Amino acid sequence: MLRPFKHIHSKFYKINSFVNHLFLDVVFRANKITDNEFNSNLLLLKYRGFVNDINDEYVFNPINECYKICKSLSSQNLKILKRGVHYNGKVRELCNGKITPLQYTDINKINPELSKHLKTFFNYLYDEVIGAAPVYNSYEKIEEFYNKLVGKSLTCRCCGTSKILNKFHSKRSALDHYLPRKHYPFLSINCNNLIPICETCNSKYKLGQDTLYEEIKRGKRVIGRNRKKAFYPFGRTTIPIKVKVTFKVTYSENILPDNIDIDFESIGYEEQLETWERLFGIKENYKADICSEDTHMYYEEQLIANSNHGIDMTQYINLLKTTNSFYDKKFLRIGMLEGINDFSTP
Ligand SMILES: [Zn+2]
Repeated sequence: MLRPFKHIHSKFYKINSFVNHLFLDVVFRANKITDNEFNSNLLLLKYRGFVNDINDEYVFNPINECYKICKSLSSQNLKILKRGVHYNGKVRELCNGKITPLQYTDINKINPELSKHLKTFFNYLYDEVIGAAPVYNSYEKIEEFYNKLVGKSLTCRCCGTSKILNKFHSKRSALDHYLPRKHYPFLSINCNNLIPICETCNSKYKLGQDTLYEEIKRGKRVIGRNRKKAFYPFGRTTIPIKVKVTFKVTYSENILPDNIDIDFESIGYEEQLETWERLFGIKENYKADICSEDTHMYYEEQLIANSNHGIDMTQYINLLKTTNSFYDKKFLRIGMLEGINDFSTP
């Protein structure tokens, strides 16, 4: 992440406490509850409408299936599931590699049917339930949460090159499940796991890739996976990432991606940088940007402007460094211009 999101004040954050209550106090304690079937009276009063006033297909049916399965699970397995609710909720610690998440593949080993019904429930929870009146009347609409998080910003904080829609648009860009809901239960409406990112990052590159595990492949076959650290998308301080561009030929309008090497530098965050690159294809994106006609036009205009103002490229780069590097792709412009300077003065 080039720039983290700041936590905002939104009722939407509290919505995940429904998930914690539902699973920690009811479903994964089913072996200690006398009712043979799930019912809304097992929930705190404030959550009963989420079951009673919402289509059974979305909440009651999948939860009742989970509840019935959990009645006969061993205490040991229920303990693993409860720990999963706690651990999966700690997105920052998961990204830092400090704790191990619970994935659907782990739940499959306990009971494949449970895994299936949980996935059904969490998909409906995000796709349907949070958009239903009993939920958004108590909390907030997801659109309001998005607008508060994005504010006036137009730039994707993940790649820094593409646009996202801001609070002045009537539509919104995608909210990415940073730890994908396809792999991780209990996280589909956790606000620490929902980030607005651009179409390119979300729908073209990341897709369903597992943020925390890198697949080891032999040919096309997956033969294992490695646990990896990832940038946590929220925080007060920006972790500086230096983009180093090396040209193998003189920069011109005919430059091709193969003529360029891109490296990232952020001391102490090497593993997070690798994950960022793996998930979002950042190097390919930046090479395409540098080779674009838009960038070449920017370069030519800059040369003219600089000569009109009597400054050379090094002075201009230093000027860029004094401004906010996140806006207008300056972090990439600086890397590119330094690369051009380095090539011409070996
Ligand atoms: Zn992006």
